[in-house]
Amino acid sequence: MYNIAFVDDSKCVAEKGCRLCIMYCPESDCINLDADKMKAEVTLHRCKGCDLCVVVCSTHKAITMHPVDDVTGKIKVEEKETAVQS
Ligand code: SF4
Ligand code: SF4
Repeated sequence: MYNIAFVDDSKCVAEKGCRLCIMYCPESDCINLDADKMKAEVTLHRCKGCDLCVVVCSTHKAITMHPVDDVTGKIKVEEKETAVQS
């Protein structure tokens, strides 16, 4: 069991042209641009949990790592608000 990547759409700036995570993810067809939302999106079953996308998105902090629920197969993301730093 390992954590996999989750993109927070409210922080991802793919619509402004950022593709860093997509370029650097070592797994093929794992993190791609969702052309409808214009946000990066992780294909959960392809993510190997290497953390590289978190590192390359350190400016925008749009990606965090989370465990997958064994029962539902869905990623477990706590809905917690973090203070916005100015
Ligand atoms: S590196 Fe971050 S901001 Fe850029 S496309 Fe990926 S998730 Fe979005
Ligand atoms: S954790 Fe690694 S394998 Fe998963 S999306 Fe990020 S860079 Fe790709």
